[in-house]
Amino acid sequence: TAFNAAVAGAKPLNAFLVETPDHALAAADAADAARAAGETLKPLAGVPIGMKDLFCTKGVASTAASHILEGFTPQYESTVSQNLWDAGAGMLGKLNMDQFAMGSSNETSAFGNVISPWRRNDGGNAALAPGGSSGGSSAAVAARLCPGATGTDTGGSIRQPAAFTGISGIKPTYGRCSRWGTIAFASSLDQAGPMARDVRDCAIMLEAMSGFDAKDATSLDLPVPRWEQGLNASLAGKRVGIPREYRVDNMPEEIEALWQQGIAWVKDAGAEIVEVSLPHTKYALPAYYIIAPAEASSNLARYDGVRYGQRNLPDGANLQAMYAATRAAGFGEEVKRRILIGTYVLSAGFYDAYFTQASKVRTLIARDFEHAWDKCDVLLTPTAPSAAFALGEKSADPLAMYLNDVFTVPSSLAGLPAMSVPGGLDRAGLPLGLQVIGKALDEQGVLNAALAIE
Ligand code: GLN
Repeated sequence: TAFNAAVAGAKPLNAFLVETPDHALAAADAADAARAAGETLKPLAGVPIGMKDLFCTKGVASTAASHILEGFTPQYESTVSQNLWDAGAGMLGKLNMDQFAMGSSNETSAFGNVISPWRRNDGGNAALAPGGSSGGSSAAVAARLCPGATGTDTGGSIRQPAAFTGISGIKPTYGRCSRWGTIAFASSLDQAGPMARDVRDCAIMLEAMSGFDAKDATSLDLPVPRWEQGLNASLAGKRVGIPREYRVDNMPEEIEALWQQGIAWVKDAGAEIVEVSLPHTKYALPAYYIIAPAEASSNLARYDGVRYGQRNLPDGANLQAMYAATRAAGFGEEVKRRILIGTYVLSAGFYDAYFTQASKVRTLIARDFEHAWDKCDVLLTPTAPSAAFALGEKSADPLAMYLNDVFTVPSSLAGLPAMSVPGGLDRAGLPLGLQVIGKALDEQGVLNAALAIE
């Protein structure tokens, strides 16, 4: 694309929207000083972290990769980023992403797509999608630009980009990480989490990011477990469930082979394999693509040209015309599509038919998982139905793009912890991810199963 050509020289991945080397250096200096003084080092002392641009960072532009927030510099720090700085980490920069976290390929960014550092080994050298929406995070970690990055996951945006780039990422139980200061997409689904090279780094980062926060009404008031200390790759006595409904039509052979390989690995680690049923799985994707846009249409009503970022005020325009001009110019196509869908499914005439119905389906999906936990401790599935696709391959077809989320949205709707861990390469040498889904609050079980696979 024209964009690829434009960035090819200077910043081949286009992963960073803003670079903040001074922030990272200050953390490194603080770590050096603590070391010199013989103090005990903080868990992330001096570690340079990439921050997804969905997190508000004090004094550093935060745009959610949308023109509508251009010029917005937060006067406050998100709780998750503050927690990381309190643990000794520093910020290397703000990472590109799908606009308002809506997308699965990073192509909806207003600042150009991110390019995956991976290439096919079979001669096809089209640039590949890094996954989305946390595509800047996945590309930056995969390319070793930073040892860890934050992501957010509403319907798979930590797990799918991790899978596409051969790294690990965990979405914790809904409520583990505070949403305060994180630009909202769909509030009942949004969760922050770490993306890093391996399971241990994810455990260390997640410990730092998590914790109760009185500023978020859905924050869980529970102590943060010592996940890193609790890591254990033996699955002796554990039951790993294989949900039969995830064996979708036309599942590529390579994804089936990946799944079988994952099953073999957890068996080797001592687990017992049990087949389970999650009967409402096929309704998860349609329910998600009603609930997420509905919440987004409500959350994004605040971008009106008055309070944040861009304002478009045509000559002689009234307030209504300013809203319209600002929103028309500021939001990208995918964001507008979601606002339209969301407004429609929440409208007086269609609310019961769509939003209420989707909310009921959500409850049934959560119940499916509850029943599965009678038979197993964690579930094992592929993370995505394919390896990374080429940039441009799905961007003209929103439904094809949405289908990429088929394995990640059910656990999002149920608020459960879920992790993607590298599971091997496909025939073209591209990474594939395996997903572990756990019971609410059992991040430890998820991390341990992922460790057995890694
Ligand atoms: N790809 C999904 C969507 O577009 C999930 C995005 C996310 O988790 N933020 O909504």
